[in-house]
Amino acid sequence: MMKKFTMAIVLLLAFIVGSGTQVFAGIYLDSGAKWASPSSIKYMNTSTKYKTLVNDGALNFWNNYTNDINFVQTNDATITKKILVYDVNYPSLSWDGQTVTTANSGYLSKAEIKLNVSNIEEYTTNVDKIRYRVINHEFGHTLGLGDLYTSSEDDVLMYGYTRATPYYPTNTDITRLNNLY
Ligand SMILES: [Zn+2]
Repeated sequence: MMKKFTMAIVLLLAFIVGSGTQVFAGIYLDSGAKWASPSSIKYMNTSTKYKTLVNDGALNFWNNYTNDINFVQTNDATITKKILVYDVNYPSLSWDGQTVTTANSGYLSKAEIKLNVSNIEEYTTNVDKIRYRVINHEFGHTLGLGDLYTSSEDDVLMYGYTRATPYYPTNTDITRLNNLY
């Protein structure tokens, strides 16, 4: 009994390190859920620490690297079908970014990206690349992409641990998206 419990905890810890997420069942594999109108996915950027980087991530990285996906910034808090991006400070938790998505009948209706400022600010080298990495990786989750955890996949954006590169969507990430959309 004790041993199993310990193993489960280790697995959970392994999963939440880096740019992990809370929704274990849905997000670690591709959720299979997608946005009904990927050409106009609204996001609201309330991050103060990384405001410019978040907009870069959505508008200059994802929009330019993909054909069918187009993020559109909104400041309209009354829109419910959107991605909300905000800062948190959880120094006792291990993750740098976390995304929780909501889906109904195979379609995404809501996503929240939490940027854990206290942890992101602890990196001392390649800080801009790491910030882009966390932000762009979490936007990948909002599109329905899950984390990848095998070491052979450590050269893709959706690899589940924070690192400096790649900090942009790679061909592997785009192929997964094309399979979903
Ligand atoms: Zn992740």
